[in-house]
Amino acid sequence: MNDSSSFHPHRRRALCCGAAAIAGLFTSLAAQAEATPPAMPWQAWPAPLADLLHQTFEGLDPAALWDVHTHLLGNGDSGSGCSIHASMTEGWHPLERLRRTAIMQAAGVPGEALGEGGVDRAYVERLRRLAAGFPPGARWLLFAFDRALDDQARERPDWTTFHVPDAYAQQVAAATPDRFGWVASIHPLRPDALERLDRAIAGGALAIKWLPSAMAIDLRDRRLSAFYARLAASRTPLIVHCGEEKAVPGAGRDELGNPLLVRAPLRAGVRVIVAHCASLGQALDLDQRRPTMRPAFDLSPG
Ligand SMILES: [Zn+2]
Repeated sequence: MNDSSSFHPHRRRALCCGAAAIAGLFTSLAAQAEATPPAMPWQAWPAPLADLLHQTFEGLDPAALWDVHTHLLGNGDSGSGCSIHASMTEGWHPLERLRRTAIMQAAGVPGEALGEGGVDRAYVERLRRLAAGFPPGARWLLFAFDRALDDQARERPDWTTFHVPDAYAQQVAAATPDRFGWVASIHPLRPDALERLDRAIAGGALAIKWLPSAMAIDLRDRRLSAFYARLAASRTPLIVHCGEEKAVPGAGRDELGNPLLVRAPLRAGVRVIVAHCASLGQALDLDQRRPTMRPAFDLSPG
């Protein structure tokens, strides 16, 4: 959303609510089907869902359908290099258990006692099956997900909820190129961030993904200017999660998800996509002399 003023708030709200409604429908149907949503062509789905999807796609060119926010996830059991924080695999806290169960069931990973390569492969296989049910031409951008780093650019495993290497996202996308593209994720404070960025762009990455609250990225940090310049020059979009984050606690820096902070990359000429439209949570209205908290959704960087 490079020019946020052209994107009407009502349309933004409608999009978010529509997504939430569809997610809710999936959730209730999934519960009925013992948490395993059907992976079949949508024309063959139960009537209410098939009708809804038919209306959703009416008049759209399937070749122009791109889902630009598809997370990869894995525990590295196939040698993918992916990892998941212990709180996601063995935490006892009810909220951690709920989060883990919801993510794994939604991903179609049938339990955690799988054989070698089981979790990594099950996740990708489910994505492939779901994608195969869509009209030919529809594509998904698969996300790598970098580790959290602190202000001194030290990797923080304790803040890293999960990690998906760029190379793995590239490899999974390359195996099914008619359905998948890939998005790199590079913490900009890494000493070799620019080399990684160049490598990602040369390797076909279609965008860069950041989740500032989890990865501990302050979009205003002056040290990011060279990274922004490279993104602007290559016209590589930056996909930034804004608003409250519930699925990936990571560094727990919710204030870094303030949508007003995307002004920094926008001013540097970067094309920015505000993931989730900042539809959850509150953020400081930094335009006020004495900033107070307001719904993040109402704060417009434009
Ligand atoms: Zn995301």
